[in-house]
Amino acid sequence: MTEPLLRSERVHKSYGRLEVLRGVDLTLDHGQVLCILGPSGSGKSTFLRCVNHLETINRGRLTVDGRLIGYKKVGTKLHQLPENEVCRQRADIGMVFQGFHLFPHYTALENIMAGPRLVQRRPRAECEKEARDLLDHVALADKADTYPSQLSGGQQQRVAIARALAMKPKLMMFDEPTSALDPELVGEVLDTMKRLARDGMSMVVVTHEVGFAREVADQVAFMADGVVVETGPPSQVIDDPVEERTRMFLSKVL
Ligand code: ADP
Ligand code: MG
Repeated sequence: MTEPLLRSERVHKSYGRLEVLRGVDLTLDHGQVLCILGPSGSGKSTFLRCVNHLETINRGRLTVDGRLIGYKKVGTKLHQLPENEVCRQRADIGMVFQGFHLFPHYTALENIMAGPRLVQRRPRAECEKEARDLLDHVALADKADTYPSQLSGGQQQRVAIARALAMKPKLMMFDEPTSALDPELVGEVLDTMKRLARDGMSMVVVTHEVGFAREVADQVAFMADGVVVETGPPSQVIDDPVEERTRMFLSKVL
């Protein structure tokens, strides 16, 4: 049996006395899409931040592609990874947020090239070619020289997706990628994500778009109060949930 791409075992995270994650168990296999649903404040963003090691977990175990996030084992002891190795782990994970966080003074093309050029220090010509291919992939080939302020929210989010892909991540994580968009722009971003999923990208998607989860997810996890309440294929978790809390939530968003 091959190791899942992402494995979260009994992950706990507290801020002071506030226990936000109270034992999160999840796995994601290579090439699969996991959608996380759940009410606001249930710990979804915190969980993604822990996977990306923007937060350090208090207890439990998190691995990406078999490697412990943020720690290494020396003998029987766990040691925190130095910052440069944390950065290397982070480079394996592409992150797309609700806000687009593009560099405002860079064009679309320059935004996509920034990581490969400045972080990976790869040759300009190679980076530019890949960035143009990625722009084409998110259907924005004609916007290469446009600045973020001149792009719609949907276009900015597609540039943000292309920028994350430019680092050639093993895993893409999306935190409510369409929540800040005008309704008429949601579809184009979801379409880009569907394409990515079809191309075999491994994805964790926190979303309230239940239709997207039903269509694209291999696995849906419903989170509440810092735990995964229920997980399974969309046909089960969305259409025939076992847990009362899942039913209550879905009755509000569907
Ligand atoms: P979700 O993404 O499901 O809405 P979050 O992970 O953002 O939930 O937040 C879960 C809980 O953790 C909330 O009660 C939130 O206020 C709290 N929280 C999140 N980040 C911090 C932080 N940096 N410091 C203190 N509390 C936080
Ligand atoms: Mg959130």
